[in-house]
Amino acid sequence: MNEYDSERMLALLRGEYVPCRRPEEADLILVNTCSVRQKAEEKVYSLVGRFKQLKARRPEVVIGICGCVAQQEGKHLVKRLPHVDMVLGPRRIFHLREALREIEAGHRPVVWVELDGDWSPPPPGPLGERPVKAYVTIMQGCDNFCSYCVVPYVRGREISRPPEEILREVECLVSQGVREVTLLGQNVNSYGRKEQGFPSFAELLRLVSEIEGLWRLRFTTSHPKDLSPDLIEAFGELEKLCEHLHLPVQSGSNRILRLMNRKYTREEYLEKVRRLREVVPEIALTTDLIVGFPGETEEDFRETLALLEEVRYQEIFSFKYSDRPLARARDFPEKVPEEVKAARLAEVHRVQARITGEIYRSYLGRQEEILVEGRSERNPALWTGRTRTNLVVNFSAPEDLDLKGALVHVLIKDTGKHSLRGEYLATLKGP
Ligand code: SAH
Ligand code: SF4
Repeated sequence: MNEYDSERMLALLRGEYVPCRRPEEADLILVNTCSVRQKAEEKVYSLVGRFKQLKARRPEVVIGICGCVAQQEGKHLVKRLPHVDMVLGPRRIFHLREALREIEAGHRPVVWVELDGDWSPPPPGPLGERPVKAYVTIMQGCDNFCSYCVVPYVRGREISRPPEEILREVECLVSQGVREVTLLGQNVNSYGRKEQGFPSFAELLRLVSEIEGLWRLRFTTSHPKDLSPDLIEAFGELEKLCEHLHLPVQSGSNRILRLMNRKYTREEYLEKVRRLREVVPEIALTTDLIVGFPGETEEDFRETLALLEEVRYQEIFSFKYSDRPLARARDFPEKVPEEVKAARLAEVHRVQARITGEIYRSYLGRQEEILVEGRSERNPALWTGRTRTNLVVNFSAPEDLDLKGALVHVLIKDTGKHSLRGEYLATLKGP
């Protein structure tokens, strides 16, 4: 979501600014921030701290902090980092040009962190490097208040973009060569629920998938409690909708899930997984996990490990719990010691590495449909792209072919730690 926001902020500045490579060359430095975990927030302070000397040398450089840390800290940020000119929360980032005018008029610092009022991303504008994939934000904010999470406080209440605006945006991207779109939101399943006359999320998927020239459709993130039967059916019906679902489970223990305020049980979660696999047997699942939530016992943790074995995710994103300002779990008792969290995280990684390895090996000898994103950065002799199940595949092809943006068949011949390796067979479509 931050990547998307940053791109759109860049689009707003087009004509006025050109991107440069190093902060020392810049007239304007914007740091778009994340505060979901403590580590992300700490990175902001160390990065922005380094711009202090730069600002001392060239006071005319404008420095802005945008996004969730801006929202969370507001005017405290300018107290702590007086060289910062501008603080824009996630609902104010698209008022960037107005904020710059204020600073030009001598009104500094600008601190805009209102969470209400209009939030609407600007159109994408001309795309630079012929991207094959793009994100489209369909909603903002979150109403779920999981007890560990800062997001509802920094991104505000859920608000959905009008369907026409989303469709127009996807059409604009497709007309510029984009073939795969990922719809973004903190909880896409509740898209349009609060707005009058909006389609449901499953209906929106259908509308987007009807856009000609779009080949693949994905979305993230989907809250398990709101994974509806019609969305599960959509996987079976919509050809462009890829066989991959990110379904964050967070914990395998019912006791911890309750403390987390996730509003589903382990059994309900597993039932949805079973149903999904009934409709789409080949669907790849990925998840987010938190280890060391306050009060998590060894037994709770074992239940999380057992769940990994039971679901067999293709990939997981696992995190050590960290206290977040405003989130309720900060005041929960029985905090888990740092070394226990680290040991649990290592164990999760170990178990998952084996499962991921087994899943990767099951691709050997298979012919897969790959959307080619370009040359592999590591080894430019190879092309790179993803399977419909979202696995990275690097592959060789005859030298005379330009495959960027093409949909091709690749024979999978080897596995790496984070990718598969293959050989080009045939072009199905494009570029
Ligand atoms: N809206 C998405 C998740 C957004 S945050 C959802 O509900 O799934 C991304 C991930 O960060 C979460 O899934 C969670 O695993 C992790 N996370 C959030 N707050 C955290 C915290 N305080 N400590 C550790 N991990 C956290
Ligand atoms: Fe955070 Fe929960 Fe909302 Fe996801 S659903 S953003 S974890 S509060």
